[in-house]
Amino acid sequence: MRFRSGGRLHARFEFGELHVVSLRDGYVDMPPTRLRGENGRALDEVPSGVPLADGNLRLSVNAFFIGDGTRSVLVDTGASNAYHDTMGSIYDAFDEAGLDRGEVTDVAITHRHVDHVGGLIAPDGSEAFPSLERVWIGAGDASVFTDRLEPLRDRVVPITGPAAITDWVTAVPTPGHTPGHTIYDVRSNAGHLLVWGDTVHVPSLQFEQPWVTWEFDGDQSQARLARAALLEQLVQPGYFVAGAHLDSPGIARVTRAVAGYQAQPIS
Ligand SMILES: [Zn+2]
Repeated sequence: MRFRSGGRLHARFEFGELHVVSLRDGYVDMPPTRLRGENGRALDEVPSGVPLADGNLRLSVNAFFIGDGTRSVLVDTGASNAYHDTMGSIYDAFDEAGLDRGEVTDVAITHRHVDHVGGLIAPDGSEAFPSLERVWIGAGDASVFTDRLEPLRDRVVPITGPAAITDWVTAVPTPGHTPGHTIYDVRSNAGHLLVWGDTVHVPSLQFEQPWVTWEFDGDQSQARLARAALLEQLVQPGYFVAGAHLDSPGIARVTRAVAGYQAQPIS
């Protein structure tokens, strides 16, 4: 995985024969009381190494465009104007990166939350990706395609088990954060990139203390187990992670650390 170029809202990487573009939708601030200990209760205090912005945790919101020159897949879409106004920059990120939204035929959603799926509809109410043919989402989360997202329902492909999206992307169900939470395993001759959605919300804490969960993890213990399994997979040679809430641009190598794990950003 090699960083090639970047700007305020995007970063372009070379991943073997594939190109990967991280697109920054923005950020969302959340109170530290959303962090949960193993007893299921809010942490008594936030460890000193965890940065706060006006008393809040600041979660980057990223999406990832992956292409081989012929086909491309967009994993997650940001929030558009359906959540806080600190998000919705993904369309500017496409422009900054020189990418055409009209090229996107396949969007792969990690889970049903609005900061991942909301960007399918642009702020003016139109479809953000005019050539969209398929929206992949875990079957357990597919019911989100109502109301604002209703126009896309006819193109939803529910994922019920490992599923090939292209020759080089496989969807892998990882329930826990939500029932349909799904990661995308991208393979090239440079290794594997696991685009892991909301497996980690607070990178400054959850690599070192991976048992810490998040209030919005629907099934706390299942989310914890899924994170543990993915971290063990990621320490193998040739593995990289792309995280929706890792600090932008959100692509890293994971290694073991004295305590837990460590993420080394690729930049
Ligand atoms: Zn999220």
